Amino acid sequence: MLLKEFYRRVILTEEAALAFLREHDLLDTVQDADPCHKCGSVMREKRKRNRGGEFKPVLRCPRRGCQTTRSVRKGNQFFHYTDMNNKLHCNLGLCEILELIFLFVLDIPMSTVTTLTGKSAKTVNDWYNMCREVCTVIVSHRGKMVGTTANPIQIDELRFAGRRKYNRGRMLNGDSAHLSDGSDAEQEKKRNHDRKIAGPWVFGLKQGSDCRYFWVELCDRDTLIPIIERECADGSVIHSDEWPAYINLNAMGYQHTIVNQQQCDVDPATGAHTEAIERSWLDAKTTVLKRMRGVGHQLFQSHLDHFCWKVMRKDSSDLFVSFLEDVRGVYR
Ligand SMILES: [Zn+2]
Repeated sequence: MLLKEFYRRVILTEEAALAFLREHDLLDTVQDADPCHKCGSVMREKRKRNRGGEFKPVLRCPRRGCQTTRSVRKGNQFFHYTDMNNKLHCNLGLCEILELIFLFVLDIPMSTVTTLTGKSAKTVNDWYNMCREVCTVIVSHRGKMVGTTANPIQIDELRFAGRRKYNRGRMLNGDSAHLSDGSDAEQEKKRNHDRKIAGPWVFGLKQGSDCRYFWVELCDRDTLIPIIERECADGSVIHSDEWPAYINLNAMGYQHTIVNQQQCDVDPATGAHTEAIERSWLDAKTTVLKRMRGVGHQLFQSHLDHFCWKVMRKDSSDLFVSFLEDVRGVYR
C-alpha cells in the first residue's frame, strides 16, 4: 500500500480506520458485537466527540437508563490490550495504532518513528514488541520442513556477536585481514578457538523462502539436534558443513550430506545451495545485528522471528495487509 493511500484513505479519520479494520475482519461490526453486558440490549453505533473535537465511534446501549458504552476495539486483544485487572493499556486511537503498525511493517527504526510520530520511545517500543510477537507466533506455527533432493534443507550456525565460525572473510566487511591460508591445521585451530567463544549463536535452517533462525546458547549437539528434530520432517535431505554436532543425522533417519562450503565458494556448479544460506545470513546479520546491541535473549529471538516473517511474506502484494491478516490469525 502506498503511503498516500494509507494516509488519505485508511487513517483519514477514526471512522475510516474502523471501517478499514472491519473490512479486514479485525474488529466486530455492530451486528456481530456482543449485546450490552448490563441489560442485554443490542448495541448501537454512536459517534462521540472527544476532547480534541474529533468524532470517535463507540458502541452504546440504546436502552433508556442504561446507555452503557463500549469501545469498538473490544473483542480484539491486539487493538484492545487489557491487563489482568481488565485495565486498558493503550490510549492511542485506531489511526495512531495503524500508523505505528504501518511504520513497523516498513521496517522504520524505532528512533525515527519516535521523531516522525511524536510518540514516546516507550509507546513505540511497546507497539513494536507487540508487532514482533505477532511475527513470532506466525513463524512458530509453520509445519516441519520437508527437505528433498531437489530442494534440500540447509543448516548452518553463525555467531552473531562477531566473526564467523570459519575464516570466510567475505562474510563480513573489513574481515579480510583475518583471511587464513586455508590449511587444515589452521582451520582446526580456528574452529577449536571459536567453539569456546560464548554466543549468541544463531542456528539457521533454510529451504527456499522458508528460513528459520534460532538463538542458541551453545552450538553443540544437545542444543542443535532437538531443533533439527522439531523443524525437519523425518527422512529430509539436509545439507550442512562438517560441524561435528551433525555427525549422527544419517543414523537418525535424515539424508545428510556434508557440503564443503569452501569448495562451493569457488565451484559455481555446486555452489548454488550454500550460496543461498550465506546470502540470507548476511541479510539477517546486517538487519538484526544493528538493533541488537545489549538486548536479552527473548528480544533477540523476536528480532530473528521478525526477519524470518519478512522473508516468509516477501512475495506478498501488500505487506501491510498481510501483517494485519496475521494479526487476525493470532488475535481473532
Ligand atoms: Zn444496556
